[in-house]
Amino acid sequence: MSTINLKAQLEILLRLQAIDTEIYNLKAEREAKPQQLQEAEKIFQEKKQRLTSLEKEFFDLQKQRKDKELELATKEEAGKKLQTQLYSLKTNKEYQAMLQQIQDTKADASLIEDKILEILDKTDKKKAEVEQEKLRLKEEEKIFFFEKNKIESRIKEIDDRLAQLEAQRKQVLPEVDKKILAQYERILNNRDGLAIVAVENNSCKGCNMFVPAQVINLIKMYERIITCEVCNRILYINE
Ligand SMILES: [Zn+2]
Repeated sequence: MSTINLKAQLEILLRLQAIDTEIYNLKAEREAKPQQLQEAEKIFQEKKQRLTSLEKEFFDLQKQRKDKELELATKEEAGKKLQTQLYSLKTNKEYQAMLQQIQDTKADASLIEDKILEILDKTDKKKAEVEQEKLRLKEEEKIFFFEKNKIESRIKEIDDRLAQLEAQRKQVLPEVDKKILAQYERILNNRDGLAIVAVENNSCKGCNMFVPAQVINLIKMYERIITCEVCNRILYINE
């Protein structure tokens, strides 16, 4: 058996754990970022949708107006045609009937004109709404890009810090006994990035379960690595 100073090894593991805890937390934060970016993008796209539908309503109104203008022109044309036929009629009865027909056509045309004015009014209002929505969207776009930038620069910050931590980790690793390191890393991977924990007030700081007095004695002997019987983490005592 080589002469491993277990107390010193535990102290190195604690330094390693401090690095690994930060790595674990940063990686968790890093993993959530693409999702956050997607959500911000989605919210902005949904806001764009309102402008699209307002613009569609505006174009629909324009089309309605054109249709009505065509209808009006047709009515007016028909009215003129009746007017020219008016003087070629023979009997008073025919004349009166035609006159009535002309009156009806004019009344129809007038109704269409009212309808056109109504559509024009709606078109103006819709246009104002579209313009307002465009301005609002510009603000939303600013907010979105601000948010996007914030997320992207945080990602870069995390990546830089992770690179630093990995370098620090590599510096510490040669100091750890190979077998102890293998055990530490196995626990680290299985126990949410926390492999070594203190015993305080007779309880494991990893799982909060009771640690018996004889286990505490074993830890204090520094003869071998002692793990929590419940969560399997390496235990140490702050002396
Ligand atoms: Zn435990």
